[in-house]
Amino acid sequence: MSATPFDLLIRNGTIVTAQSTFNADIGISGESIAAIGAPGATAREVLDATGQYVLPGVIDGHVHFREPGLEYKEDFASGSRAAVMGGVTTVLDMPNTIPPTSTADRVRDKHRLAEAKSYCDFGLLGLVDQDSIEQLEPMAEAGVVGFKCFLGKSTGDIGPPDDGRLLEALSIIARLGMRCAFHAENDAILQSQVRRLQREGRTDALAHVEARPVIAEVEAIQRAALLASVTGAKIHILHLSSREGLAMVEHWRQRAVDITCEVTPQHCFLTSEDMRRLGSIMRINPPVREPGHGAALLQALAAGRIDAIATDHSPHLASEKIRDTIWEAVSGFAGVEVSLRLFLTHGHLTLQELVRATSEAPARMWGLYPRKGAIQVGSDADLTLVDPLVEDTVEAARLHGKNNLTPFEGCRTRGAAVATIVRGHLIMKDGELIAAPQGRIVHPGLPTGETSPRAIAST
Ligand SMILES: [Zn+2]
Repeated sequence: MSATPFDLLIRNGTIVTAQSTFNADIGISGESIAAIGAPGATAREVLDATGQYVLPGVIDGHVHFREPGLEYKEDFASGSRAAVMGGVTTVLDMPNTIPPTSTADRVRDKHRLAEAKSYCDFGLLGLVDQDSIEQLEPMAEAGVVGFKCFLGKSTGDIGPPDDGRLLEALSIIARLGMRCAFHAENDAILQSQVRRLQREGRTDALAHVEARPVIAEVEAIQRAALLASVTGAKIHILHLSSREGLAMVEHWRQRAVDITCEVTPQHCFLTSEDMRRLGSIMRINPPVREPGHGAALLQALAAGRIDAIATDHSPHLASEKIRDTIWEAVSGFAGVEVSLRLFLTHGHLTLQELVRATSEAPARMWGLYPRKGAIQVGSDADLTLVDPLVEDTVEAARLHGKNNLTPFEGCRTRGAAVATIVRGHLIMKDGELIAAPQGRIVHPGLPTGETSPRAIAST
């Protein structure tokens, strides 16, 4: 029996994985989980988790930390600070920065700048657009976690590749064994609807919902999945917003396309009725829908038909968000810090279902499991400790990003992250940031962590 003390011991907590819930201590050596169940073990540091749940670290697979180029909205230090305060241990950052992440050199540049200041681990998505095809393989070698394609324009105004280029891109991505995420909205439908509504003189918030109808989402999923089915590429649908979109995902899943999807708190919990009340602050792409879609998405999430929860954390200045004319407002708002709290309170999910959606599923879909997304000996010691009883109210003024405007302002929550551990480093405890940034890049090329069972240390 080894007498070597652990570096960190999580004592008296209830471990929750996607498969099971049980009481055991967790011993951490260096940056990895060294033991699960270690009676009598000693450690340099002990964290008492009595009354708390110990979850595999939350992965937010969809954030925009805005760096490089849009640092006035957010940067990797502020975005990752908000992430760890909300219990998030790994984020995947989207490529619509300035310049966009569309070449191997830009991947390396973003890797360097993020590693210098990120409090959580991070993966980078490379851009698939009309001109980046030759860069897909070099970007994979430079360490992207996967790719992203905008079929409809959003922040950054990045246009979709034509179908020929997209088919070519998916062939390459299939050969690389990687996954391509889609902003799934048909751009031509959006453009023509906006023109029609503007001709009619509409400037109200709900015109934005009308301008981006469900059919735009359904058509884009259909096209992406059809091209995936002939190329064998793995694909992922970002921020799924409608019942019909889900039906199209399931249609292709039944035809053996490897298609995963995610939902955001805003598409689950907010509707066009909220937007009527709150106005342009709620402008997002795709838009919130009429009442009914959110409840259906939540049910599908609980059943595992929707794979993951992600936030699409997209901060902007309040002055960019709050406009009388909806067309002048930008799309997106902050979310990485409050998502876990919102789903704990309003998600109607068991903790095991929650863990599957916040950690295991995103780790699996991006090729990071079981280094990430698992509580196993040999996995990275990424842990989110949750106190199920702590009550709070969402207040932008107390959040930790650069621009925290949120339509969930005033929303009561019950249950929250009270400690965040990233690769063995206790970064957040009781709402305080207590360690320096130590975030590192993640991608499927890394070794996936030791999975063979090992003797449990005891004295
Ligand atoms: Zn996004």
